[in-house]
Amino acid sequence: MDPLVRAALFVRRGLRRANGLVFAAILAAFVVLGGASAPLLAALPAVVLWTALVASRIRRKLRRTSDLPILTDLELAIFLTIGLEAALVRFEGGLGGAYSPAIYVLVAFITAYARRGAGLAAVVFVVAFEIALRHATLHEPLLEGVWPHAAFVVLFATLNLVFLRAQMAHVKRVARTRIEGELLRLKEDARSYRLLGGGDDSGARGEDKLARSSVEEIHQSVHYALDLLRRTLGLNTAVLLWLNDAGTHLRISELSTESEHISDAPIAVGDGVLGAVTASRERASLRALKPSYKVPYYAGPCPVRALCAIPLLDGTTLRGILAIDRVEDRAFTPHEEELAAQAARHCLRAIQNERVFLQLERAKVEQGKLYRATQALASALSENEVLDAGVRAAREVASFDLAAVTLYDEAQKIHEVRAAQSADDVGEDIADLVGARFSPNAGLVSMVVQNRFPLPYKGDFDPAHQVVLTKRFPWPKLPSLLVLPLVLRDRALGTLILGARRRHAFGDSVRPTLEVLASHLAVSLANARAVDKLEKMATTDGLTGLLNKRAMLEAAEHKIAAAGRFDKKLSVLVLDIDHFKKVNDTYGHDVGDVVIKGLGDILKRQKRTTDIVARFGGEEFVVLCEETNEKGAMLLAERIREELQKTVFHAGKTTFSVTCSIGIATYSEVIGQWDTLFKAADEALYVSKRSGRNRATAHVPRTSESSARHKVSA
Ligand code: GH3
Ligand code: MG
Ligand code: MG
Repeated sequence: MDPLVRAALFVRRGLRRANGLVFAAILAAFVVLGGASAPLLAALPAVVLWTALVASRIRRKLRRTSDLPILTDLELAIFLTIGLEAALVRFEGGLGGAYSPAIYVLVAFITAYARRGAGLAAVVFVVAFEIALRHATLHEPLLEGVWPHAAFVVLFATLNLVFLRAQMAHVKRVARTRIEGELLRLKEDARSYRLLGGGDDSGARGEDKLARSSVEEIHQSVHYALDLLRRTLGLNTAVLLWLNDAGTHLRISELSTESEHISDAPIAVGDGVLGAVTASRERASLRALKPSYKVPYYAGPCPVRALCAIPLLDGTTLRGILAIDRVEDRAFTPHEEELAAQAARHCLRAIQNERVFLQLERAKVEQGKLYRATQALASALSENEVLDAGVRAAREVASFDLAAVTLYDEAQKIHEVRAAQSADDVGEDIADLVGARFSPNAGLVSMVVQNRFPLPYKGDFDPAHQVVLTKRFPWPKLPSLLVLPLVLRDRALGTLILGARRRHAFGDSVRPTLEVLASHLAVSLANARAVDKLEKMATTDGLTGLLNKRAMLEAAEHKIAAAGRFDKKLSVLVLDIDHFKKVNDTYGHDVGDVVIKGLGDILKRQKRTTDIVARFGGEEFVVLCEETNEKGAMLLAERIREELQKTVFHAGKTTFSVTCSIGIATYSEVIGQWDTLFKAADEALYVSKRSGRNRATAHVPRTSESSARHKVSA
């Protein structure tokens, strides 16, 4: 960018940012220069400007709270100060009138609501503005009024800053603790209803949300049952007490009560009547309770005379107790007890239903993830695309920081890391591992391929005792690790390795899905390999591994087009083994094949990377050389011819050698088509054959005066 433009932009941006302060300075100057006591008509524009500015800053402040520049706070504070002091001067004639303490209120307000920096700057402005007003506008001797006022302003600001802010911080802290406590309690409920997997908090947010809504459902359903029971039986309290996981304490899970003295504290299981019910798992019904009797869910003296406690059994496991009581000293009848027992069963069923619902919901989510993963894997065609789609899909199922895929080559007995990715912020880059090759060893990857079973057993990595790939290629020391086999028809093609900084990241809730995903990955890998193989088969010659005629013709079209467009040299060599029939007849077809392969190898060695070599059929080969004129092509032809001539072939105990004839044609304006180019080279080959074989002949294009000629070398 032009420096001038940049400077202009800078100035403009600065002006836009500072425009509030510029207006503030103008207003302040106006007031100090007597604007506050000017006739109303003269002061009106200033009042309008002031109102507009204050309104705009308030609107800005109301609209955005978090990332608002601190300048807005300062501007608002300054405008309010100017407004207030101007009003005091106008209506009270000075700053020492009855309403002058309003300035302290303003300072208190500013320091409470503005951010700290803005508040301090505003206090400085208040003092400075007052000095200016008293000195320039009111012509007061400086020391008299200003200093006590200024001292009070600073005092108010400091007190406010210290006490009010501390109080606000305290209130915020209390509120946060309460919210956190509430969340924790919800989570605890979810855990005790066995809606969350024990200890394993993977899958985090979505799982939490599901569990929370389930807890809500359970509370509503249970509360309804308890309320109905209380109203029907005229109870003081109907309460569902839930046993914690360890089985040591009962806690109120839901209740419907008339009492205001409920104690929410956990109840040790051995206590009183509830302890007896917990131990015996039998109903207990008491009456004639005295105020001194301790009913653990009431604080203070016992307010009820009759109580019945019913155990909640989930199969044979005790989950909690339903307690009902009433103030009246009247024993619960068997009918009433039965009603309560039914309510208890309803509560238990509500919890069980939610559990099943949650499991279904979870299964649905997992299936959705797998479905998407399968789709992504199915549309990936190449091996790299499959690996990429696999790692991406795994990321949906579990959160991890490192992922790698190794493939095992059974023929060569070698593992190779084919893909490796790490999260940006993990600090461990494993991209270097791509291409690492190692033999089977006692490491986890080798073991997983061998046994086709995921390792480590619990998904925890112990770097001191476990090797992932091999000692030469160390795996980052993150606490969670999972190596999954990519199994296809009882064979492991390789492994998917996942690593995470979070402990226990690969618990039971994600492992089964990851295992299914790994097997999908294996199928897709096998498919990608099959596609790749088919493609190779369609374009290469099986005996020599060179391109076949079809692939060569396709490549030739491109090369010819490029030669025409960029005026590049392009030569073609056509080779044919001399008296090859004789080789076949003398030594057999198999030996003939060895000779064809031998020439193929020579061509592979002699060609440059940009050359294209193909077996055109039988014992005939074509080489297409880019950026090569007739001379270059002739040199290449000679090298090939000589090497073949020197090559010794074996047939049983006898040895023999063969020669070849070569025809060359170079692209030019005259022969600008593949057909003509190939025909010209073929003609040149024919000349070589006719001239005694074991030689190379270059086609020289026909000009207006001469007919086609050939340059022969041997
Ligand atoms: P010339 O010097 O004129 O080329 O004589 P030649 O005997 O080589 O004649 P030609 O090129 O016509 O011979 C082609 C022979 O190559 C015929 C066929 O038996 C043999 N042939 C073609 N394909 C194969 C193959 O895949 N393997 C083997 N062993 N022989 C093949
Ligand atoms: Mg031939
Ligand atoms: Mg031949």
